[in-house]
Amino acid sequence: MAGGFISNETIDAILNTTDIVATVGEYTKLERRGANDWWGCCPFHGEKTASFHVDADKKFYHCFGCHKGGNVVNFIMEMEKLSYPDTLEALAKKAGIPIKYQDGYKPDPNRQKNNEAEQYIELYERTASMFHYFLMETPQGQKALEYVTKRGLTKETLEKFRLGYAPADRKWLHKFLLGKNFSPEFLAKSGLFSQKYPDYSFFSDRLMFPIFNRRGQVVAFGGRVIPPADESQRKYLNSGDLPQFKKRETLFGFSFAKNSIREKKSIIFCEGNMDVIAYHQCGLDYAVATLGTALTEEHIKMISGFVAGGTVYLSFDSDGAGENATWKAIKLCREHDLTVKIIRLKGGKDPAEIMLKFGAENLTAQVKNAILDSDYLLFRLGEKYPVDTPEGKTKAALEYFQYVDSLQSDIQKESCLEQLCQAFNLKPEAVKRDFNNRSQARERANIRQNNNQTEEGTQVKLDAELRGLIAVTADLNQFEVLRTKLTEQDFTNPAARKLYKVLEECFVEKIFTIRDILGRCDDEKLVQLITGSISSGVYQSEKVSVIVQDTVNLIKRNKLDAQRNKLLQRIREYTVVTQEDQNQLNALLAEKLELDKQVQSLGKK
Ligand SMILES: [Zn+2]
Repeated sequence: MAGGFISNETIDAILNTTDIVATVGEYTKLERRGANDWWGCCPFHGEKTASFHVDADKKFYHCFGCHKGGNVVNFIMEMEKLSYPDTLEALAKKAGIPIKYQDGYKPDPNRQKNNEAEQYIELYERTASMFHYFLMETPQGQKALEYVTKRGLTKETLEKFRLGYAPADRKWLHKFLLGKNFSPEFLAKSGLFSQKYPDYSFFSDRLMFPIFNRRGQVVAFGGRVIPPADESQRKYLNSGDLPQFKKRETLFGFSFAKNSIREKKSIIFCEGNMDVIAYHQCGLDYAVATLGTALTEEHIKMISGFVAGGTVYLSFDSDGAGENATWKAIKLCREHDLTVKIIRLKGGKDPAEIMLKFGAENLTAQVKNAILDSDYLLFRLGEKYPVDTPEGKTKAALEYFQYVDSLQSDIQKESCLEQLCQAFNLKPEAVKRDFNNRSQARERANIRQNNNQTEEGTQVKLDAELRGLIAVTADLNQFEVLRTKLTEQDFTNPAARKLYKVLEECFVEKIFTIRDILGRCDDEKLVQLITGSISSGVYQSEKVSVIVQDTVNLIKRNKLDAQRNKLLQRIREYTVVTQEDQNQLNALLAEKLELDKQVQSLGKK
């Protein structure tokens, strides 16, 4: 993989300094199960039982569920959706390693200074600091400060979440940022200004909530009108998607909550920024909120490594929209095999109100009393349909079946169907029959659909050639012998050729470790095959030398066979007229004899 012309020396320093266990540990909880073996739930595909392996010695990871694998650079690229050079730069920065470029390469001055996402972050950080200053220190922010104080937020909380106030003067921010040497062109596309009037601030006279990425840097804003406000204004405004900010992949409060989520194996999803802040102030510091979107697959992937085996709490409003969001979130979480409980707030319309009226203990107790999603749904269905009539019962049952579908275990399904029977006084046999008939119809439809789908992507063929080279990768000492016997051209499988090339390069450059080899491999499927084979321990060192010898013999033999076949063809087609012809034929026959001897010396296939 091209390192964006970053020198091998720098890449090596990054790989040497970055602790893969600690880095991966920021995204999923890892447990030690052996001197160098760490296991956790995969942060990429979401699961309940750990099938994600990190080898601290060889410095690579592999998931036995979704087969993703690689070294720490691959991990960050995939996790943070960064390019290869951007990942190297981010890791270098984190480790405090100065970046050296390859000889003769002059990096683009902008790129050297900062990549685009980082420039945005710098802009948003500065803006957040100014907004915070306006809220805390100026008369203009007074009204906003009074509002948050009245809602019970402490000074500590305001500082922790860096709440702010966007001035009413729409032109102020543009002038301020120009003064800080941001170009008008950059500001125009920054998302902070009106598209129509590029010097008009998008947010004005609002209470501002900085939105942080998982590292705690400001990447966007949410703004709330300050009551009593003009009815025509939208109550909440959020930044749109930007290079450094994707709504679907961001959770408000996550950078503050992630350690607690991991420790407590719990998370509270709520609806608004104020809810998150109230929970945190009450010590329930594992609360987060989506940003005006429903809960997405991406959100679940962010958190499932932390809460696997724990509990997801849902704290949405009790209005129609909130009920809808709750229903969707339950199904999504259950499809990822997460346990779900519903917080049904009593005594106030939101967590902030309860905190203000009854205090932190009350809110904590309400979270403790959260009910299981199945109980919640049965209760809701009982309210929604006339369940004392056969028609009402059928409707309620059909809706509940959708929930049962999302459950991942048959035992759970069974016990939830029993609960349904008890709740609405239904006959278990009839319920099971209806449920199964429906599932079967759906399965048939699924099979049809799958049959219509064709295989995607290119396949890496795992043949004897590639298997031999993967074995060598597992026990790199063997390569020194192998390279004296074979060259890249000897391999016919393109994937094997690719791997041989990488092995040879790393060997020559004396960066001959698995993590470097994985880093050089630009074929994701090939990397997955390597990390999978090595993680599963199929290549024990003592066997590798045998596998290597077999591979060498096989390849040589195939090569000789091909030569011999060509020769035979020529001999058969040879017509002898002159003595010269006869001499040449004799030479060909001698050549064949020599090949036969060589084939024999290699032994049987
Ligand atoms: Zn996985």
